[in-house]
Amino acid sequence: MSDPVIRLNVVFQRRYPIERGLSAGFLTQNGLGLLLVGLVTFGVGCVGRPDELRLEEGVSEELARHRKSTLADLSYAYELSVPRDAGAITGTLITRFTLRGDSKNPVVIDFKDSGERVRSVYVNGETAEWIPVFDHMAIDRSAFTTGAYNEVSIEFEAGNEALNRNPDFLYTLFVPDRAHFSLPIFDQPDLKAPFSVTLEIPSEWVAVANGTEVSQESLDGERTRYTFRETKPIPTYLLAFAVGDFQIETAERGGRTLRMFHRETDAAKVARNLDAVFDLHETALDWLEDYTQIEYPYGKFDFVLIPPFQYGGMEHPGSIFYRERSVLLDESATQSQIIGRASLIAHETAHQWFGNMVTMAWFNDVWTKEVFANFMAAKIVHPSFPDLNHDLRFFLAHHNTAYGVDRTAGANAVRQPLENLKEAGTLYGAIIYQKAPIVMRQLELLVGEETFRDGMREYLSEFAHGNATWPDLIGILDGLSDEDLVDWSRVWVEEPGRPTVSTELALENGRVRNLRISQSDPAGEGRVWPQAMEVTVSAGGRLSTVPVRLEGEPLSLDDWVGRDAPDFVLPNGGGFEYGHFHLDAGSRQHLIAKLPEIRDAKTRGIAWVTLWDAVLEREVAVAEWYALLLRGAVEEEEEQSLQRVLGYLGSTFWGYLSEDERAAQATPTEEILWGQVERATVATRQSSYFNAWRNVVSTPTGLARLRRIWEQSDSVRGMKFSVVDYTAMATTLAILGEEDAEEVLDRQFERIDNPDRRARFTFVRPALSTDPAVREAFFESLSDLENRAREPWVLTALGYLHHPTRTRHSARFVIPSLEMVEEIQRTGDIFFPQGWLGATLGSHNDPELAAEVEDWLSALPDDYPERLKGKILQSTDGLDRAAGIVHGTEP
Ligand SMILES: [Zn+2]
Repeated sequence: MSDPVIRLNVVFQRRYPIERGLSAGFLTQNGLGLLLVGLVTFGVGCVGRPDELRLEEGVSEELARHRKSTLADLSYAYELSVPRDAGAITGTLITRFTLRGDSKNPVVIDFKDSGERVRSVYVNGETAEWIPVFDHMAIDRSAFTTGAYNEVSIEFEAGNEALNRNPDFLYTLFVPDRAHFSLPIFDQPDLKAPFSVTLEIPSEWVAVANGTEVSQESLDGERTRYTFRETKPIPTYLLAFAVGDFQIETAERGGRTLRMFHRETDAAKVARNLDAVFDLHETALDWLEDYTQIEYPYGKFDFVLIPPFQYGGMEHPGSIFYRERSVLLDESATQSQIIGRASLIAHETAHQWFGNMVTMAWFNDVWTKEVFANFMAAKIVHPSFPDLNHDLRFFLAHHNTAYGVDRTAGANAVRQPLENLKEAGTLYGAIIYQKAPIVMRQLELLVGEETFRDGMREYLSEFAHGNATWPDLIGILDGLSDEDLVDWSRVWVEEPGRPTVSTELALENGRVRNLRISQSDPAGEGRVWPQAMEVTVSAGGRLSTVPVRLEGEPLSLDDWVGRDAPDFVLPNGGGFEYGHFHLDAGSRQHLIAKLPEIRDAKTRGIAWVTLWDAVLEREVAVAEWYALLLRGAVEEEEEQSLQRVLGYLGSTFWGYLSEDERAAQATPTEEILWGQVERATVATRQSSYFNAWRNVVSTPTGLARLRRIWEQSDSVRGMKFSVVDYTAMATTLAILGEEDAEEVLDRQFERIDNPDRRARFTFVRPALSTDPAVREAFFESLSDLENRAREPWVLTALGYLHHPTRTRHSARFVIPSLEMVEEIQRTGDIFFPQGWLGATLGSHNDPELAAEVEDWLSALPDDYPERLKGKILQSTDGLDRAAGIVHGTEP
């Protein structure tokens, strides 16, 4: 189904009867369908002018371009009144701009359901003629003065869709195009404008917004008016405020005042985290000011911790929002949670320059802001963790996840075209967050670190407080370097997929006759991914590294000819290479037998990820791989890689072992992991082992132990569990068939005192039920948008529904969940469709289900949104591989 497009200006231009009968009032009652009928009827026989503006649902590229070329000097002032109860939020907007051009097109402001929500519209002081069209307001052009300053004033009721209203708090989340779901606005990233915000709220609450608070005025004792200073020019997706029952912690760091808004009731937990959280922000700010040579652009610096926040964080200038549990860590945190928090804070802080100060012109380049945030974050966290192997960290944080998409039939390019902002959510994913930083690292290697940094500085200062495109940046770097970057960019940025890089090792009488590295295009299109590589060769237990540059032609490592046969060759030994690395059989066998014995931590980490690729291609037998993982769980000394190994262990145990194999492996697996919990001397390692053990525990002995720990009749030496940990234990006990599951859950609920955590527990609880009918009813309830409002809770609940031990029952939810994806993409926040698919499909490995999904996919209509179909294919890839069906674009 494609969206209807209507020709609107014809109506205005010819002065067809848009009197009250066919405008707002009439449409409000009768809906859009009749509006369409009316306009189409009036428009019959009219031939549109060349500059005629067509409107459709969402902000089309055409509408955005038109507005960019006709609006200038834009500013907004919002006044909103927030009630204590769930009643309507009312407000006014005054927006001013210069109108250019001699077009007859109406002025189009975006606002969803404006027909029901707008109370009045004035243009330059006069009541204006306007009509709601899709999610826009079209205001008659004749009310405006061309070439001069105009003022539009709108009285409205705010839409709740993007306001995330909870009983005690609310917060905005407008990225990518959701500002207009709640407010009238020109909702596109290249109309950056200063915003003034005034919020009138219940006096017992507090408010925070992008701008500095300039006053708090008590109105009648019950209400307080917060006025915020006008911001620097920012795009609409970054406009933000939060209102509600928050506590505020303040700290001074390096001459700056930092404020943290939060709702955590555990004061000890807050106190334990506070210094680290402020320090990490300060470190990131200092590093970025130094690297960019540009001062933090937004003056004040606040951040807000929100329990059910949809993402890890959102970089609103002056007011970053985070998911609370990503920032306030428990004492049982793992190393990867600790480093993850530092990276998250660095990521959102880096956005203040990359994305906020210089913004992509259109969301097709949204990846540019994400790649720089992640790329800079990797550099920023370096000094905070001096003992960490950062090359390995970069590799583990990016490659495995990027490959998870790029090996699938649904792989997408880093840069993708985008016709309408309403589709912008489908651009997000591992390719822009994980592959793009690898691409950027290759670019940095290509042009040199200093040239790269100088290019960044030039880019930031040239486009400060404005917008830029990827070609703008590559143009700057191209000018600073001898390389042909435009050509280079084509395959890495504009194309999906990865090369297959193969090692060929020929031996003769135990000596090397020939050692060659070559790349090929798995899609058979002859594409070449030029890249810098470090080939690691192990001979007699000693490692050597050979830096090479792999282009289209195979490389012969002639130095090795005639030497003793190596133990193994790892062509991606640097950790920045990208591809499906197809090892020679000898190297593969050596690694399967002896991987944990390699002394170099980075080489081991790379070998783990490379072998996983081989397992997924069925080049390595699952039983051998599982035995290696069990060994790695004990012997892997590098904590970052241990996390990866334990992750693979869980996925392999639940997804790739047959039921018989799993039954045979359950006891040894639990014993090995539990042995490590008891032996561990480093707290973060111990937490990782405990979590891995809890993830696979299924034997009566194991469950009895878990029960005793949960009941606190048994303790684990050295481990301190939080209420969140106990809740996780209770969910495992409930799912794995404790007879008194409901009582366990009742008792756990009583142990939770924080209201936000209680609300979450209440929400997810039916998904844990031992009664299949309750679980079915819960799934049913998700078809109601209201019940999907707290997205992280929904994903957690889906994870319970589809627990590996319950997949026989939950298979029935898979096709209905796929059917819902289109709607979920339309109504949910950007990561939700992907999260929904992952949580739904992640635990399944039944070939029959895989075949059903395959049938469903092949029956999709031709006009099913392509990027969304790609997302689905990305998620079904794991199901197919676990079910033993290997396909996709790779051999
Ligand atoms: Zn980001």
